[in-house]
Order: sequence, then structure tokens, then C-alpha cells
Amino acid sequence: MKKYRVAVLAGDGIGPEVMREALKVLRALESRFGMEFEFRQAAVGWAGIDAAGKALPEETLAECDAADAVLFGSVGLPGRDATLPKDERPERAALLYLRKHFELFANLRPVRLYPGLNHACPLKDSRIGSGIDIMVVRELTGGLYFGRPKKTEEYVVVDEEGPGGKRVLLRAIDTMVITTEEIERIAHVSFEAARLRRKKLTSVDKANVLENGVLWRDVVTEVGKSYPDVELEHVFVDNASMQLILNPSQYDVLLCENMFGDILSDEAAALAGSLGMLPSASLGETSEESGIRFGLYEPAGGSAPDIAGKNLANPIAQILSAALMLRYSFGEEAAARAVELAVEKVLTQGWRTGDIASASDEPAKRVGTSQIGDAIIASLD
Ligand code: NAD
Repeated sequence: MKKYRVAVLAGDGIGPEVMREALKVLRALESRFGMEFEFRQAAVGWAGIDAAGKALPEETLAECDAADAVLFGSVGLPGRDATLPKDERPERAALLYLRKHFELFANLRPVRLYPGLNHACPLKDSRIGSGIDIMVVRELTGGLYFGRPKKTEEYVVVDEEGPGGKRVLLRAIDTMVITTEEIERIAHVSFEAARLRRKKLTSVDKANVLENGVLWRDVVTEVGKSYPDVELEHVFVDNASMQLILNPSQYDVLLCENMFGDILSDEAAALAGSLGMLPSASLGETSEESGIRFGLYEPAGGSAPDIAGKNLANPIAQILSAALMLRYSFGEEAAARAVELAVEKVLTQGWRTGDIASASDEPAKRVGTSQIGDAIIASLD
């Protein structure tokens, strides 16, 4: 019997409601797939501040340190966040801190438009084509967002008509820096992800303008030689952003630098129809001892205070995040697939929460958070 210890950080707003459904689904997998989960619930976000004075209490961090993976809900409550200095607000003090603490360098955002949800996608059916099923892999710890120098400084220019023959401006400097090692490790994650999918990797860069892009393309091409079964193509970021709208079904895995991935993952996310459908994974290194890759798994959306506590939230993003944990941290591919197939079945049968509902739904199939969780469990093979 394989045992996995999971730090469960449900957080604020809809976090606890959708997390409950994800844990239910994971429990239902234990006997089917011969595994056992030890769920270690810990407070985070406003739940952490209210319980222990901090968005990420020491005890919570200790639970994460001792865990094989972290299953995260969402943190933050807009009204209350504004009362705190920026660095103490839950998203920064808990989530960004955890990403840094565990050096989670790879962010995976699968975007899939499930059967029956075309109405929720902003594209016409003719553009949806054979379907949308894309994994955006974003480098998360390097690139333009972290390069140094990063500052705003005074900048003197010659101006004969100005006082003293000069003019003082301000100029802002950000630096795009990436090393071969950083490119290699994110490339390996992407090729491995492609191997578990349709075996096509599209690497995004700006090699026609940026030195970063030239190195990126060279290193990804080199890493690709170890994955001859994966088809590799390169695309400029501006073209990728256009193609995502014109012909999204051509993409399988999209590998991106940090800022490019930030932008393209949100653009792609809009195609899935609802934040409630979007899981994510942030991965660190694989432990040599256990063979488990540490990761933090969370829905892409926030705490949705407008619908919290009403059994209205869509738990699918949280449940699919748990499936990503099974795949990428624990290597439990069959269990991960089982969850994804059960979600597909439930949606094909017409079960809907409000965020993915349409006028043509059967009213009896418009249900709440816990009913979707139950239906997914009932659909597990
Ligand atoms: P949000 O993602 O919480 O909500 C935006 C809209 O999407 C709302 O209408 C909400 O009802 C809907 N929505 C989100 N998830 C849904 C789900 N599972 N099912 C159905 N509908 C869903 O964004 P926001 O309102 O801008 O932020 C609310 C709070 O969440 C803020 O405090 C923000 O800082 C925080 N936040 C946290 C995270 C995180 O923890 N990773 C991410 C984004 C925002």
C-alpha cells in the first residue's frame, strides 16, 4: 500500500467547500488504486491570521515541509486584505512565500474545454475546431520577473534648453535573465508532460529580438534530443498569442518563459469557460530518496467571496488539481486519468454548477458544489 502525506490548506472563501469535494474524491480512490492518504489540514490565509496571527502560521509551514505535496484552496478576502500592508496580505504572505520557499520553478496550467461547454467558451465553434486541450508550462522563478538589476532611477539627458543644459528623467529597469540550467529543467518538465499527453511540445520565445530567446531555443532544442518521441516546434510569442485565439486545437504543451507564460496562460484560461474549471500545479524538484516530486496544487481562481458558503462554487478545478497531484507528484497516472474521465463523464451527462450553466440545461441537473463531488465519485470506474 503506497502512502502519501498531503498538507491540505483550504484557506478562505470557497476554499473549504471545494477542498471538501477534492478530499472526498481522493478518499474514494484509495481502495480502488491501493493507496492511502494522510491528510494534514492546516490553516492558511485569513483562516491562518484568525487562528494564529499570520497568513502562513509556523505550524502550517511545518506541515508543508513534512508533506509529499500541498493541496491548496485559495486565500484572500478583498475587504479584509485591504486592511493589511501588502507583504502581509494572504496571497503574498502565504502563496508567494510557499512558491519561493519550495523553489517551485514549474507552473503547469492545463486548459481544457470539456464536452458540452462550448457555450461557455468565447470562441465560435468553428474556431474551437477539434477541441481545446492545452497545457501551458510556465517557468516560475527566473526570467524577466526576477532578473537583476530591477529598479527605478534618475536618468540625466543632455538638453541645451533645460536648466544647466540637462534634464532629469526617471527610468525603470527590469532585466530578463535565464541560465541554461533553468531552461533545461523547465524543458525536461515540459517534455515529460508532453509524453503523458499527445506528445507535441511548442516552445515559445522571442528569438528574433531577444538574446534570452536565442539561448532558450538552443537549449530546448538540445534537451529535445533526449525525447525523440515528442514532436518539438518553436513559435514566437506574438504569434503564439494570436494562434491561441485563431486555432487553439493545434497546441498540446506550450512551454514559456515566466512573463510570456503569465500572459499566455491567462489568455488560454479564458478558453476553458470558467475559473471553476481550471486546475494548476507548481512543481519543485524530485526527491532522490522517495522519487516524489514536491508540488503545490491549486485552482487558478481565487476565494470567490461572492458565492462562498452557498454550495454554489464549482469544485472541478480543485478536484482536477488533486488529479494533477496524483500524476505529477505521486506518478499515479491511472488514478489521475480516472478522476479526469469521471469529470468528463459528469459533464457529458449534463451536470452543471451555475458558472458553466446554459439556458439549454436540464433544470434538474443544475446542482451545487457537493452534488458535483458526489456525481464525480459515482462516475469513477
Ligand atoms: P476570484 O477568482 O475569487 O473570483 C472571480 C469570479 O470568478 C467571481 O465571480 C467568482 O464567483 C468566480 N469564481 C471563481 N472560482 C469559482 C468557482 N470555483 N466556481 C464558480 N465561480 C468561481 O477573484 P477575485 O474576486 O478577484 O478575488 C477574490 C479573492 O481571492 C481576493 O482576495 C484575491 O486576492 C484572492 N485570490 C486568491 C488566489 C489564490 O489563492 N491563488 C487567486 C486569485 C485571487
